[in-house]
Amino acid sequence: MSPNASGWRSVEIVLKGARRMRVTGKIAEIRQWTAEARAAGKGIGLVPTMGALHVGHASLIDAARRRCGFVVVSLFVNPTQFGPGEDFDNYPRPFERDLALCEQHGVDVVFAPSAAEMYPRENLSWVTVSGITEHLCGRSRPNHFRGVTTVCTKLFNIVGCDVAFFGQKDAQQCVVIRRMVADLNMPLEILVCPTVREADGLAVSSRNQYLSAQQRKDAPIIYEALKKGREMIEAGETDPARVRERIEAVMRRVPALQIEYISLVDPETLEDVKRIGRAVLIAVAARLGPARLIDNIVVDSGR
Ligand code: AMP
Repeated sequence: MSPNASGWRSVEIVLKGARRMRVTGKIAEIRQWTAEARAAGKGIGLVPTMGALHVGHASLIDAARRRCGFVVVSLFVNPTQFGPGEDFDNYPRPFERDLALCEQHGVDVVFAPSAAEMYPRENLSWVTVSGITEHLCGRSRPNHFRGVTTVCTKLFNIVGCDVAFFGQKDAQQCVVIRRMVADLNMPLEILVCPTVREADGLAVSSRNQYLSAQQRKDAPIIYEALKKGREMIEAGETDPARVRERIEAVMRRVPALQIEYISLVDPETLEDVKRIGRAVLIAVAARLGPARLIDNIVVDSGR
């Protein structure tokens, strides 16, 4: 299959049995297909992705399947959420493998537009969420969330979904999207699914494939450190600085890990907590060789 000027050709993949998965890069076509599904009384679920699909994405698709009669997966490496010098050009794009995974997980439609289809002219209209986009990843990726909120708004408008599925792995993204949907009265529900991890605890990510064998061995230290933080809080620690120090000490066991942030924040406002109360989001970002890795854990101490 090959792309045409405005995205991937519309194709129909005939599956064993009666189901068919359709693939298109055209906005007009996806609109028509979702309108037909809606007219047939089906709820529309959207799983927005940048492709390079893995078991984490599959868990979102499975959740969408359970909840919605019609499941759309978007595959789009969105240029507007990458900053200068980031990995937009190198981002993996294994299109055929992505289609196979979608097919195996019972997706109805794959929407894989080109950049020209999504941004046919200079984009002058942006959706920005203030405040909560300035913490955590927003500090080192200044226009990232503006790109995410803009492309998600476009995808929600194009697909007309009832529910959109996101992964807790990108905790800040979930908070930002939920807030945007609430503030702008967008007529859909946001459902957040748990982070899927490798057996050694590393959060599954498309970017893990940038890691060398040694870096891959070292990477689970991030989750080890988060678990140490959780243990301290569950044992009664209420001082975020002490928890942060311990997490940092664990992460420092891998000298190659360049820590970008270790933050203990309120799970909704993303403001630093002064004292750990009921629920706290521990979020970390670090570079390991060519990969920027993020992970988080929510600790609800029940206090
Ligand atoms: P991406 O393709 O990386 O933009 O991710 C698309 C969606 O999949 C986002 O909502 C991510 O949070 C979610 N996702 C990515 N990795 C995981 C994972 N390991 N577990 C659960 N969801 C994930």
